[in-house]
Amino acid sequence: MTISIKRHSENIFWFDLSPNKELEFISIYLVVDDKIALIETGPACSLDNLVSGIKSAGLKLENVDYVVPTHIHLDHFGGGGHIMELCKNAKALVHPKAYKHVSNIEKWWQGSSDFLGRVAQLYGKPKPISEDRLVSTVDGFEVSLGSLSLKAIHTPGHAPHHITWIYGDEAFVGDSAGLWYPEVGSSFPVTPGYYRHDLALESIKKMESLNLKNVFYTHFGPRPVYNTFEETRKEFELWMNIVEEGYNQQLSSKEILQMLFNKRPGLLETNQNHGIHQKDTHKSTVEGMIGWLRRKNEKY
Ligand SMILES: [Zn+2]
Repeated sequence: MTISIKRHSENIFWFDLSPNKELEFISIYLVVDDKIALIETGPACSLDNLVSGIKSAGLKLENVDYVVPTHIHLDHFGGGGHIMELCKNAKALVHPKAYKHVSNIEKWWQGSSDFLGRVAQLYGKPKPISEDRLVSTVDGFEVSLGSLSLKAIHTPGHAPHHITWIYGDEAFVGDSAGLWYPEVGSSFPVTPGYYRHDLALESIKKMESLNLKNVFYTHFGPRPVYNTFEETRKEFELWMNIVEEGYNQQLSSKEILQMLFNKRPGLLETNQNHGIHQKDTHKSTVEGMIGWLRRKNEKY
């Protein structure tokens, strides 16, 4: 398929990866400075589109220097090993906690298949990356791309191994600030099965303190920063309050989701527009939040 490249600024390009033809689900970013960084790879199933996108931006695969996931969930880095085979000179920059999973994929694949079920099959199985091509990136890790550097800020919550990548006053936020729906002008939380609400809020505060100009969501697209993080934090807190209210009344995740549909403008619409990979995304988020409440209550 033909990929249309959008130029955000002098150095930042992006495109809609459209895995299995699903539009406006995954954005892929390219930072083109003296060095070239590919931010996110998408899943294994969309490798051809990823390659087309890089080439349509006028770049050669062998000139990509860094392959940079925000985290290794299959929709973000399932195609990491595949593209690393083609970008022969690239190193992959991964969180220390993700390092062993991308070099030895079996546990990663098993865990993803258990959680995602059929959707993991749609995404496709990752390929391992040999350790000599991996860089373990601690919090504050920095690599120069030429005019500016790319810096790792650890932003756990959505995943313990989540990184927000900073380039000047722009940030590639992965899933740490939720999902951005430009069509309704709102962002909503996204949590996997094991969610740390406390860390998610801390991470949002951390990003808020950076005075960023733009954030680049993986789902989906760029967003200028204007009270963005404050709004995001409030939205996460509001969701948790509603989920807690339902949890205390022993409602099911489906019933709690219905409460959210009634209370959050635009949410139902985004749920109806969800394609095959994201069908139950909002419901899973409710379940992740219930899991957090349950663990919190067990402690006392
Ligand atoms: Zn994601």
